[in-house]
Amino acid sequence: MAGHVIIGAGLAGAKAAETLREEGYDGPVTLIGAEELRPYERPPLSKDYLLGKSEREAAFVHEPGWYAANAVDLRLGDPVVSIDLDGRTVRQAGGAVMPYERLLLATGSSARRLPVPGGERAMTLRTFGDSDRLRRAFAGAGRVVVAGAGWIGLETAAAAREAGCHVVVVEPEPGPLNRVLGPEVGAVFTALHRRHGVEFRFGTGVEEITATEVRTAEGERLPADHVVAGIGAAPNVDLAREAGLAVGEGVLVDASLRSTSHPDVFAAGDIAEAEHPLYDRPVRVEHWANALHGGPEAARSMLGRTVAYDRVPYFFTDQYELGMEFSGDVTGYDEVIFRGSVDDLEFVAFWLSGGRVVAGMNVNVWDVVDPIQDLIRRGGTPDPKSLADPGVPLESL
Ligand SMILES: Cc1cc2nc3c(=O)[nH]c(=O)nc-3n(C[C@H](O)[C@H](O)[C@H](O)COP(=O)(O)OP(=O)(O)OC[C@H]3O[C@@H](n4cnc5c(N)ncnc54)[C@H](O)[C@@H]3O)c2cc1C
Repeated sequence: MAGHVIIGAGLAGAKAAETLREEGYDGPVTLIGAEELRPYERPPLSKDYLLGKSEREAAFVHEPGWYAANAVDLRLGDPVVSIDLDGRTVRQAGGAVMPYERLLLATGSSARRLPVPGGERAMTLRTFGDSDRLRRAFAGAGRVVVAGAGWIGLETAAAAREAGCHVVVVEPEPGPLNRVLGPEVGAVFTALHRRHGVEFRFGTGVEEITATEVRTAEGERLPADHVVAGIGAAPNVDLAREAGLAVGEGVLVDASLRSTSHPDVFAAGDIAEAEHPLYDRPVRVEHWANALHGGPEAARSMLGRTVAYDRVPYFFTDQYELGMEFSGDVTGYDEVIFRGSVDDLEFVAFWLSGGRVVAGMNVNVWDVVDPIQDLIRRGGTPDPKSLADPGVPLESL
């Protein structure tokens, strides 16, 4: 009997397998992974685990025995190399061919490499192996150059500083996180990292990497024992594209996470580019919560349940003493309002577009994600003075 096959044994794939069983599906479930390790969560790889403060075991999605106990056929270290949509089969590199009734693609992303001479010398961060390699490199407390001041670049810079390295971050944009947060809130991260001794070179890129240094576009030579490329991730969509599925930036799916081009195929996690009830364009979210919730929603959809995946995009990070959660999407914002103390790193920032709250970020302020996401969902135009006033409960806005 052909059952349900999931390609990609990451968080989205593992949570989808779990949900298929929880929802009572009793046919075969196969979860196929390219990596040798059973599914794990990646956020610790650039935080606690990289800092040596948490164990590997804490990051795995399930206990080792969970898969057999739940009759999930977990096939690791043998990626799927092709999908036959008409024949409803997938083929693994090792030659095995699996029939499927419904197929979930959850192949995640790969770290982008620096396309410059010597770019292959830069380390990237996506897997446990990568994190182990970085940890060993940082232990030497040498000189580290990080290319890219996005989330991974900044978290890596923080870990390198905490390990005692000298750290320079090179970023072509005028500030960190410029496209995801804009300059007003990006400045908070610049100040935080500078306080911790990180140097920045903004407005310039890495042009060349040699065994001992990094040359920037402006011609500066930065001595470097280690170089890290934190320049983003590319969704693993080649398999879907080669199979003939509709692919934009990600695998195109409707709000039920079903492929817009093939009714038996679904996508979740980093690779899903989904129609979203809150937005007038497809949305692709490369964050943990989207894999955590999208995997289960795709599984329900595979089982024929009615699904409209409408979660507000959500992200979290920890860097030094800053812990934060971000909700929404800042595209097209025209104003930022702060509530609380930016200097004390205890505040909420709201991004507004035409008076409507489109995104919110709570920094060292907790248990406010629900009211922030309610504001984004409702799309009303709250009074800016009340937004800025910590004395006014968010729920009342
Ligand atoms: C270092 C790091 C830190 C992060 N920190 C945060 C954070 O703080 N907050 C946050 O919100 N998000 C964070 N993220 C992002 C978050 O981890 C991802 O959004 C999440 O892992 C996506 O899950 P996924 O299951 O879609 O994909 P992945 O986790 O990428 O898993 C996909 C799996 O599919 C496998 N695969 C690919 N192709 C094939 C194939 N052909 N056959 C079989 N298997 C295949 C891959 O090898 C991989 O194991 C971080 C990511 C990284 C790398």
